[in-house]
Amino acid sequence: MEMERLHHVTAIVGHPQETYDFYTQVLGLHLIKKTVNFDDISSYHLYFADEYSEEGYTMTFFNWETDQRGRVGSGQVGHTAFKVGKGSLDGWKTHLEENNVDVKETERFNKATLEFTDRHGLALALVEDETQELASISGFYGVEILSGRVKATSCHLVDQLGLTEIGENATHLFYQLSGDDKHVIAVYKSKQNRGIDGVGTVHHVAWQAADRGNLIDWQTNLFKTGSQPTVVKDRNYFESIYYREPGYTIFEIATAGPGFQVDEDRDALGQELKLPPQYEENREAIEANLTPIKGA
Ligand code: ZN
Repeated sequence: MEMERLHHVTAIVGHPQETYDFYTQVLGLHLIKKTVNFDDISSYHLYFADEYSEEGYTMTFFNWETDQRGRVGSGQVGHTAFKVGKGSLDGWKTHLEENNVDVKETERFNKATLEFTDRHGLALALVEDETQELASISGFYGVEILSGRVKATSCHLVDQLGLTEIGENATHLFYQLSGDDKHVIAVYKSKQNRGIDGVGTVHHVAWQAADRGNLIDWQTNLFKTGSQPTVVKDRNYFESIYYREPGYTIFEIATAGPGFQVDEDRDALGQELKLPPQYEENREAIEANLTPIKGA
């Protein structure tokens, strides 16, 4: 079996208004789902996408309204990279700087990369896709993994998840997924201190399974090879399993469907607070505990 594409990346960030303003106004994404963290209903779970996507490709956030900052380190995703149009990096650099974002030009993804952080210190990147004409973001380019055991993570990506090794440079090993998006996974070669969850860190990265049957196949394979995936969890918009890869990063595998239109129409995506059925009876208390987001 081969993993074809990323499904979503979930990060822990701070005030929801700052998240909303940054991802919609500065990066031009759309809020497509406003719900709560199903495992911690005191926190929003906000989903952003480049368009009203039915299949995922979402950047999602748990908004912790605390100053409990995380520490970026091994066992986490480092930079999350979005794809932008051919020849658009200079324009993006100007645009980001005009919005008071510090930008660094690097080659983190083995080609020209713009690096910056969101308002809560979350590491992001933009990389051009030669096949894309529009400058705007169109999904993920890939993610960087800060592994606690580089070799074991690399073997896991190739042997268990079916990624293809596509090269290496002084700092990273590069792998590619088999789907049309050709998502790139950059594994950082140097060992670092273990990361700590908190504001400004990625919580997990999710790969996409075609459907429930495919998800169960992945779960069975992971069991056989010694990983310990969770039971299948119902996330309302998809079903998921979670596990830690051998280099300690939390991986999720999520089904493509049923998708984000399961509880609201395409034109209304992201406009109202959506709760799964088990929390609906506590809506008033849940809503009272969340900070309203202006414009959302
Ligand atoms: Zn997830």
